[in-house]
Amino acid sequence: MNTPLPQVCERCGKVSPSSAIGLAPGASVTLEGILVVSPCPYCGGQARIPEGRYESVRAIVEAIRSPEVTRAELERLRAIAKGVSKGTTDDQQATNQVDELSAPLARVWSAFGTGQAQLLAAVISIILMLYFQHGAEEETARERILSQQTVQIEQRIFEELQKTQQSALAAKKPTKPKAPTRKSPQRQIRAANRSARREEAAWKRRQKPRGD
Ligand SMILES: [Zn+2]
Repeated sequence: MNTPLPQVCERCGKVSPSSAIGLAPGASVTLEGILVVSPCPYCGGQARIPEGRYESVRAIVEAIRSPEVTRAELERLRAIAKGVSKGTTDDQQATNQVDELSAPLARVWSAFGTGQAQLLAAVISIILMLYFQHGAEEETARERILSQQTVQIEQRIFEELQKTQQSALAAKKPTKPKAPTRKSPQRQIRAANRSARREEAAWKRRQKPRGD
């Protein structure tokens, strides 16, 4: 079975599995100069698979094999990524903070870039959950990581990303399909008039600064 590639919504910023492309088990792919767009399941906006993302996920999988990279460092990088995606940390602050981390994680940061900060935070959470959970010793976690191949770890990350998104969607979904809203013809007309008035007002506001 193919694992859908994660996509990032341009409108709401959420990560979801792409309905456009799947990754066959053990396969690896690099997207460069290809724009894959499909609808976001949360808001219906345009979601796209970030270019070169496979390189970035690979970069973090390779980084966690390095003995310099500790759980505390991963948590630090996740906090920086969250700050950037929420807009509480600007790019310069993030660069300064990342400079204090070990070289492998600094490389991870540049591979993801600020545009994929939210995805990076999600991937780190998955790695912590898969390998460092229940206060596992650094040594035990590293042994577990080193016992798996890079592609196996990537595959697990993609599967977990997908699961997270599916459970988030299931929790959000109403228990029964929403019945079409029934409005009386009068109410429909009033609603249409309201929206026409709003559009007209918005149009007038846009015209004003140029008119005077
Ligand atoms: Zn969205």
